Amino acid sequence: MGARNSMRAWRVSTPGALDGHPLEMAHEPIPEPGPDELLVRVLACGVCRTDLHVVEGDLAVHRAGVVPGHEIVAEVRTVPAGRDDFAIGDRVGIPWLRHTCGVCRYCRRGAENLCPD
Ligand SMILES: [Zn+2]
Ligand SMILES: [Zn+2]
Repeated sequence: MGARNSMRAWRVSTPGALDGHPLEMAHEPIPEPGPDELLVRVLACGVCRTDLHVVEGDLAVHRAGVVPGHEIVAEVRTVPAGRDDFAIGDRVGIPWLRHTCGVCRYCRRGAENLCPD
């Protein structure tokens, strides 16, 4: 499997104590971005206590084999047609939020984590 069409990820195999090595290195196909999504290459990712709770099984996960990490610095690889707010090579930060509305009073003041959307 070549480096160009696969990526490495540390997946939670079976949640449990760190002594039992609950993380496993996986090689996954590079995902296909959706029509409104960027494809990014992760350059660095913080690991916080929430991730450790997931790895150790203290927090239920939404799907098996989750890849911990939600404080990401990345480089843009592809930009969907028609978008001019990002360019290939841009450095971007990605938080744990999947989506916010961008227009509510919380979003407008930089408190997107409180967005009701
Ligand atoms: Zn966190
Ligand atoms: Zn909002």
